[in-house]
Amino acid sequence: MHYPERVDLLESEGAFVVLAKAKKLEAEGKSIIHLQIGEPDFDTPPNICEAAIKAIRDGHTHYAPSGGIPAARKVVADYMSRTRGIDVGPEHSIIMPGCKPVIFCSMLALISPGDEVIIPDPGYPTYRSVTNFLGAKPVTVKLREENNFRFSLRDVETAITTRTRMIILNSPHNPTGGILTHEDLEGVYTLAKKHDLWILSDEIYSRIIYDVAFQSVGSVPGALERTIMIDGMSKTYAMTGWRLGFGVMPKKLADYMFTIAINNFSSTATFSQYALIEALQGPQVAIDKMVEEFRSRRDIIVDGLNSIEGITCLRPEGAFYVFPNITGTGLTSQEFADLMLEQAGVAGLAGTAFGRHGEGYIRLSYANSAENIRKAVALLKQALAGVRKA
Ligand code: PMP
Repeated sequence: MHYPERVDLLESEGAFVVLAKAKKLEAEGKSIIHLQIGEPDFDTPPNICEAAIKAIRDGHTHYAPSGGIPAARKVVADYMSRTRGIDVGPEHSIIMPGCKPVIFCSMLALISPGDEVIIPDPGYPTYRSVTNFLGAKPVTVKLREENNFRFSLRDVETAITTRTRMIILNSPHNPTGGILTHEDLEGVYTLAKKHDLWILSDEIYSRIIYDVAFQSVGSVPGALERTIMIDGMSKTYAMTGWRLGFGVMPKKLADYMFTIAINNFSSTATFSQYALIEALQGPQVAIDKMVEEFRSRRDIIVDGLNSIEGITCLRPEGAFYVFPNITGTGLTSQEFADLMLEQAGVAGLAGTAFGRHGEGYIRLSYANSAENIRKAVALLKQALAGVRKA
């Protein structure tokens, strides 16, 4: 049978590949500490679960309008307006089964074969994968460790050509935990305006941020006309399995997105959207506690890694990942990730799973208990000492 070349252009995610390897080792009796994961290890707060159960009992088990139920779209518009200091209405907002479909569908609506899309490297693999799938060309901009894993605006400007259609931003950032400043965002907007580009801003970690205030490019005056701001429930509310993401964007684009949704998944699960309403409007104490816990684990993992010879690790200001520099060990990223899994029993991702500029780094998630994180650091120290002796 014939399969179009396009399907081979889609990439999987490193975390799923490593999980399969780790599961195999576990089946052989080895114990593994999972630091490859991209989801909070907390349960969804009970008030949110109850709202969904009530919605099911109340009969909200039918199709919803393709862009989301009106009450949920209003809550999303209010939430985005409140947290970004902007003024958007429900007509700008759209709810989909996760941030990923919002990324996918907005790129499907806006990117044509031959276009160029500027993406961060290292960066979330979906951006590159979807760009390739659509017959467009990913153009990478290096995130520099010496710049706290921010890009330099000069690099962004150099990457722009007459074919560039979109710039993708992700702050706080997966995999580095880096965040962009207001000046960075103003600079990107100025370039986007000058060259008439779309900005896709993946803000899924907007609430998992430490010591600094979250900044969105959408808050830069004028940016809303060319920006898709994406956020969701997976990380902030520990709701990865509920499949709930949302975006705000120019109304005309939102209307195209409804049509794409109609032709694809029809609508997001109706009762899930009642959970979204409760999550965004209800008490936020559980979220504040979760972020505090992440902050203390971040400090444990950063201090632990910096105590290992050959490793240096920045203290990230957002998300729940660290991206330590492992070049001092003399190993490549992949060699290090393999050694970590096979010798230390710690699952993590090679930095190269996020692009070629990830060489020399690994990504570890601290969505695991403080005890396991301490254990993982000790095991890693031991394994590396063994390699040095050998
Ligand atoms: N964007 C980034 C940067 C992510 O890390 C993830 C999840 N790993 C997503 C999007 C997808 O999130 P969702 O569960 O909402 O589809």
